[in-house]
This record gives sequence, C-alpha cells and structure tokens, in this order.
Amino acid sequence: MSDGANGNGSGAPPRRRVLVVGLDAATFDLILPWVDAGVLPTLGRLIREGVHAPLRSTLPALTPPGWTSAATGRNPGKHNVFNFYRGRAGGLQPTPVTPGDLRSPRVWDIVAQHGLKSIVLRMPLTYPPQESVGVMVSGIMTPKGTEDFVAPASLKSTLEARIPRYRMEVDAENLRQGDLDTFRADAFDLQRVQTEEALHCLRHADWDLCWVMSHTLDKLQHFFWRYMDRTHPAYPGPGPYEDTIRDFHIAFDQALARYLEAVPPGTNVVLLSDHGSAPLHTYFCVMNWLADARFLALRDEGAARRGLAAMGVDAKALVRRLKSVGLGWVPRLVPRALKGQVPQAMSSFNKIAGRIDWSRTRAYCPSAPGSGLWVNLKGREPEGIVSPGAEYERVIAELRERLLAYRDPKTGEPVVSAVHRREDIYRGPHAEGGPDLLVETARTVCMIEGLGRKSLMAAGKGPEERTGNHARDGILVAYGPDVRRGETLPTRAIEDVAPTVLYLMGLPIDADMDGVVLTDALRPERLAAQPIAVNAEPYALPDAGSFRYSADDEQRIQDMLEGLGYV
Ligand SMILES: [Zn+2]
Repeated sequence: MSDGANGNGSGAPPRRRVLVVGLDAATFDLILPWVDAGVLPTLGRLIREGVHAPLRSTLPALTPPGWTSAATGRNPGKHNVFNFYRGRAGGLQPTPVTPGDLRSPRVWDIVAQHGLKSIVLRMPLTYPPQESVGVMVSGIMTPKGTEDFVAPASLKSTLEARIPRYRMEVDAENLRQGDLDTFRADAFDLQRVQTEEALHCLRHADWDLCWVMSHTLDKLQHFFWRYMDRTHPAYPGPGPYEDTIRDFHIAFDQALARYLEAVPPGTNVVLLSDHGSAPLHTYFCVMNWLADARFLALRDEGAARRGLAAMGVDAKALVRRLKSVGLGWVPRLVPRALKGQVPQAMSSFNKIAGRIDWSRTRAYCPSAPGSGLWVNLKGREPEGIVSPGAEYERVIAELRERLLAYRDPKTGEPVVSAVHRREDIYRGPHAEGGPDLLVETARTVCMIEGLGRKSLMAAGKGPEERTGNHARDGILVAYGPDVRRGETLPTRAIEDVAPTVLYLMGLPIDADMDGVVLTDALRPERLAAQPIAVNAEPYALPDAGSFRYSADDEQRIQDMLEGLGYV
C-alpha cells in the first residue's frame, strides 16, 4: 500500500476506507487450484493473509439480483430486482429493470447520506451515473451506445485523454459473428481500460468507499469454458483458446496488485463475485418441456413443430421451411439465421409469446435466466385460466413433482435439482414480483425459455453458444487491518456484504437488512472497540425520478443483453 495519508490531516479520526473489488462469476473451483499452482500471487496473498468463504448468491444466481443483494444487504423481495427484467411478465413483453425499480438503497447511497465519498465503477444498474455519490462509471444494464456513462461528466474527457481506446463495453458484434479471436482481444483490452480507470480514480478522487467491478470474466466463462475443460462434451482438443479463462484471471490478479499498491494504508479490502460458474453441457428448453407435459399449448402446433424439427440441421433450410409455413416471426430471424445463429435467436420469450395459446396454457416461463415459472393465473395474467386457491395449488404441486422426476434420457440424471415456491425464497413487500416457482437445474444444465428441437439440447454446437453456466456459490475474500488472518469460513450469504462493508466504514446498518455483519471474519479487538450499530430510522432511497428510461433506452438495453447471448 502507498504512503498516502490515512487521516484527513485535521486531527479528526482516521478515515475508514474500504475497497470492494467485484469479479463477476468468479469461482473458487478455478481460483484455488491456480492459487496453489502459484499463478495468482495476489489472490493467493489475500486468501492466505485474510479470510475466505464460498458466497451463496441469490436465486436466480444472476448478475442484476446478485450484485443488488450484495450492495443493499437485502433479498430481491425487498430490493425488487429479480432478473434482467422487471417483476412479473404476465404474458406480456418483459422490459429491462432500471435503477428506478430499486426499493432499497445501495451502500454508496448510504455512504453519501453520511457525507462520505464513493468511487463506483461498472456496477450493474448504475445508469445514469450519480455524481451525488462521488465518481460513478455505469456498468451492465446501460443502454448500448450510450456516451454519458461517466459522472462527473468532465472526468470522461480526462479518462479518454489518458487511456487509449477508453470505452464502456465489449463489442458483442464479434460474438454474433462467431469471431472469438476478436471478442477475446476486445475483452482483455477492456480489462486494461477498466484497470487504468480504477487506478486513476483511486489516485485522484477523494474517496471513502471504492467499489470496482469487472463483468468481463462472466462473458469469457460463458463462451470459452469448453476450450479449457477437457471433460466438457464439446471440448475440441488443445487449441488457441484453452488458457483464455486462466489468462484473464492472471490479468485480473495483476490489476488487483496495482489496486492494493494504490490504496492508503489502513484500507480494508473485500473481494467478491455475484455468483460462481460451472460447465454447461445441456440446454433445458423449458417451454418444450411445458408443451410436452401439457402445461402449455402453442397455436399452429403442427407447423411450429415441423419448423422446429429442422433446427440445428441447416439454418437456410430452416428459414425456407419457416417461411413456407408462414410463421410471423420469421423476418426477425432471417439476418441471424443466415449466420447460423438459429438456436440463440430462438431463445427469447419475446419471439414466441405470440405463438402461445393462452386459453390452453396453465404455466409458462417468460424469462429463463430468472429461473422462474409462472402459473397462467386468472385475475393476474391477461388471459389467465387457472383459478386462485385449490386449482393453483394443484398446478404448483403437479409442476413441482414432474420437474423433479424429469431425467435426461441419455444419462438418467435429474435435470432439475430443486423447485422452490416463491414464498420460500423471497421475503418482503415486493416478494410478489418473483415467479410462482423457482427452478434450480443440475450443475451442468441451463434453462432457456425458447423453443428448441427438443426439451434437452447439447450446448456448444457453434462458437457463439455458451458452454459455461452460472453456479450458486461465488467467492468472498476479505483482507486488511481489521480482518482475521488465514481463516477459511463456512458459506456466507451475498446479503452479508453490504452490512459488513458499512461496519468496516464505521457506519450503522439498517434493521431490515437480511444480511449480517460477518463478525467471524473480523478481529476481536475491532469488534470490542466498535459495537454493531443499527439505525432507528432506515436509510433513504435515492430519488427514483432521475431514472426514467425512454422506450429507445429500453430497446438499447435489450440489444445489449441479446448481444451477449443472455436472452
Ligand atoms: Zn454475474
């Protein structure tokens, strides 16, 4: 750490700075063996000289709810971010979540209410950037092509002048074209940009909290997993991509070392991921399964199925076939289908919603990344047919039983590992925004909401297909003067991050936070000197009025998500 001043020079108590470093989708399954092999020396030092624990994510284990729970200390039933999309789709086109949907303040909002300063870099749901917290650079869920993603606005020209090819995001078009070389080079180069950006802010901004996040690893793990993993069914043999994911960890480790040098002595450090990662072997096309199991009906089913049967065989033939049977959504598919992108193009609910016969549908999945199934409930869904009460309970029970009994015919293994009712997972005033049932798939299975050729499809047929999956457990590492040394803790909850960061900063926590201060990570002398303080009045939510998104903004967020293969 540098020789920078620890106090503020006025004789006031020293500032209790915290550096939070986010590495989206990081997993100890990969990191610990690489630490043991000596290729990640900085992470190794933090683990040896600090504490570490698996960090249990939200359900679904997804970027927007995961990071929001980390930063608010609450479950989605309180903070209201369940998915990339807003609450219940109700059979209509989903719209992306925005910061205006948040119902709980995030750590940097709280820090600002204490008159302290934050640097918040590349966190999800931070567009438009809020100058009121200090420095903010917007992260994922920012409309594609946005230019005003830095606050204060004048900082952007400084960063552009100092950092070659300064920019917001990777170019998803490379992925769309199946150009993995350019996509990889772009991703590594963006990490260089983000590292220089963070170092500039750490050195030049006034800060008490710095929360810097990198989303790039999540993208790389989704698309490069099979090249690394010799046990993956789509492993192509040794080749130029096999070390991509390891090399990104090395680049991150080097960035982390520079952050640690740049922060003043006395800074505590918290490193986390929002969820982990695992191999993805099989897509579970849940809408196919729902149709086969007679929970869902499609209009023109025969035509749709004939068209779908051609999928994955020949994209051009499929387009001809679909055109010949007159399916309305063909024009949207054509440009990508010609590039051989049919399976992903069909994975979005938006593209099949018009095909659903709601008068014969009892359950559906509006967004598989949200892991949820909705009952087509009378009085809630626009064309609901299932009555609340006994009939609803029967549908829930039947869905649960049949999902848990479902086996992959090739392996005999269960496809679904757990099915939860909404009320068993979400607590709080916005819990109704979650789906009726939350489905946890087996580790190597990823649920998608589109129609496939059949209910289970092998992943990794094309270069643009994901072969890395999200896993529930991410990572937590804490290190610094107030942190115990060299301890491995049992699994902790992602909601524990916000209260722990507030405690380390010497600030009170809110009474309705679901997370707790991780006292077993902290030194006894610090705990003795600073009892945990709980607010009598909860912290205020920032004014949501500044977060109105236009229809064009929403479409550009949708474009961003589609570009990354999320929908
Ligand atoms: Zn994530």
